[in-house]
Amino acid sequence: MTGKGFRQKKEKCRKEIITIDGPAGAGKSTVSKMLARHLHYLYLDTGAMYRAVALKVRQEGVNPEDEAALEDLCQNIKIIFQGDDEGKRIILDGEDVTRKIREPAIGWMASRVSMKRSVREAMVRLQRKIGEKGKIVAEGRDTGTVVFPDARYKFFLSAEPGERARRRRLELVGTGLSLKIEEIEKEMARRDEQDSSRELAPLRRATDALLIDSTGLTPEEVVARMLQVVRKEDGQL
Ligand code: C5P
Repeated sequence: MTGKGFRQKKEKCRKEIITIDGPAGAGKSTVSKMLARHLHYLYLDTGAMYRAVALKVRQEGVNPEDEAALEDLCQNIKIIFQGDDEGKRIILDGEDVTRKIREPAIGWMASRVSMKRSVREAMVRLQRKIGEKGKIVAEGRDTGTVVFPDARYKFFLSAEPGERARRRRLELVGTGLSLKIEEIEKEMARRDEQDSSRELAPLRRATDALLIDSTGLTPEEVVARMLQVVRKEDGQL
């Protein structure tokens, strides 16, 4: 399947946007990057944006419960994605924070600040702007439910907790962080619980999203399954 084939069968009412939501460690990043590369789409890591806000909150000593201060911070923050998807760097107000934002403490802070209306509104605005032209694979918690409800294809990726923790551990090792598996599992469960139970844009499957359980599947197998759906619905099978 090529990007060209995908474009030719465009449904008029739906944007050329693919959303991939799911809990922490379900393999969203790896799969989203691969799918984006395959289709020649842009990859958008919405979680990295909330992590960048969280890091700024920490750096500036802002109270994560102070909505006005968060709003102010979000209005002045500059988040830039640099480079290709494989080696994508996240630049926060001129500083390369690619590695720093992956720390579990920042993940937890991201989960806390992403509950706040001012933060969500600012990030969703930015995400929609990035997705304006379509041809994007967006990954996160609410990309199919809130950010791009009219996306053409929506997936919800899940996996068993043990497998998710193992994957997250490998990912962290790749960024130079080494943590115990039990610690990771506990942190992920706590974060998922907070993300799922919040009032605004909780983590949940969009009614029109296809659920894929990636337990025991390789990223290649998950991507193949997604491409099968894309092809079938585009009338290419
Ligand atoms: O995907 P990642 O684990 O990097 O996301 C970090 C945190 O950012 C999540 O736990 C969640 O609280 C928040 N997030 C969100 N909405 C998104 C993406 C991430 O609330 N679309």
